[in-house]
Amino acid sequence: MEVTIFGPSLPREMQEKGYLHVHASGCRDCGKYRGENARTENVESAEELVLGNFGEMMRESGCNDWTVWESEFYWAPCTMSLPNRA
Ligand SMILES: [Zn+2]
Repeated sequence: MEVTIFGPSLPREMQEKGYLHVHASGCRDCGKYRGENARTENVESAEELVLGNFGEMMRESGCNDWTVWESEFYWAPCTMSLPNRA
């Protein structure tokens, strides 16, 4: 699934939902993030996305349970079909 990840450094009201926001690429909500840092990734699962973004932090922290880090993200409803979504 091709997803677009917004952040870090989102406006405070957006960060309350999550440090990084994940949407399906092309989702109409992506327009709300005008001007924010964004990148596109093609991932097979939520786990792959978390490991790709926080792998180094996970190793440094010694916490290898990806589901702990999953909560750092805001997973928009348009990503519901992504496997391994908690
Ligand atoms: Zn969306």
